[in-house]
Amino acid sequence: AKKEGRNNFQFFDTTLDIKAHSILELENELRKALDRNEFILHYQPIMDLSRNQFSGVETLIRWEHPFMGRVPPDKFIPIAEETGIIVPIGEWILRTACQQLISWEKRGCYVPNISVNISIRQFYQPQLVSMISNILSETGVAPERLTIEITESMTMDVKSASKILFDLKSLGVNISIDDFGTGYSSLSYLKTFPIDFLKVDQSFIRDIEKGKDDKNIVTTIVSMGHNLGLSVIAEGVETEEQLKFIRQLRCSKAQGYLFSKPLTEQDLIQFLKKSSVY
Ligand code: C2E
Ligand code: CA
Ligand code: CA
Ligand code: CA
Repeated sequence: AKKEGRNNFQFFDTTLDIKAHSILELENELRKALDRNEFILHYQPIMDLSRNQFSGVETLIRWEHPFMGRVPPDKFIPIAEETGIIVPIGEWILRTACQQLISWEKRGCYVPNISVNISIRQFYQPQLVSMISNILSETGVAPERLTIEITESMTMDVKSASKILFDLKSLGVNISIDDFGTGYSSLSYLKTFPIDFLKVDQSFIRDIEKGKDDKNIVTTIVSMGHNLGLSVIAEGVETEEQLKFIRQLRCSKAQGYLFSKPLTEQDLIQFLKKSSVY
């Protein structure tokens, strides 16, 4: 009967209204989601290509809503951003990820490094650096085992971004520029930022098999990273051919379905037991 009621509602609604309604609904549900424990973190392995071994994980949030089902991050992160709900959610993500690292260790699983995505609203919160610093000391995670992932577009305000990045860096954490190649940041500024890694966006990796021009684009992006003196991580690696190609380009790390999908905390333990060396 419940299902029927929903269908009836949609039937009388206009497309626009449904859209507006669902965004509002998402927003309302999002406000309750933290208290209701509806978020869960998944962890995707990142492989070190020079040593042929597991080097860490990227934390990816999942929202399991009781009746909307699994809402993908691409759908709710932008709403969490606009409404500012991302701030408490982001703090929860960081704390949970750091606690998880320690918890794995207590169960005999050493995860060298954990990456956490930071969104723009969070990045420009005045409390960002002290929040991270507090979580590190509270959980006992060594700063060099945490990597903060930000995107190129977040550094548009070069002066402010630079200050935040240097403050973060002085904590001792690693900084990674995500989705590299898709933004419009000026390379000369990137050079002045204290960055450790560039993650080449998966759209470029996907194109590797397409042909010579696409290979040239990936080659250019990776060598741009190397010219900036940075380690390059390839994301979205799905095939052996892509792996072979990025190895030739001397990417230092890779992440993608070829190695593993994002895993639950328990599945990561299984993954590590099965394949300590790829
Ligand atoms: P991202 O940071 O670029 O994350 C990589 C996305 O690629 C993830 O999607 C991951 O599941 C997916 N992926 C990994 N390997 C492969 C592959 O081999 N092939 C393909 N086709 N996809 C692959 P996901 O988890 O849906 O996240 C989407 C985006 O949502 C993320 O992009 C990130 O921008 C955002 N996001 C996810 N979790 C968080 C979070 O905890 N905090 C924040 N602020 N944003 C997050
Ligand atoms: Ca990321
Ligand atoms: Ca990415
Ligand atoms: Ca992305």
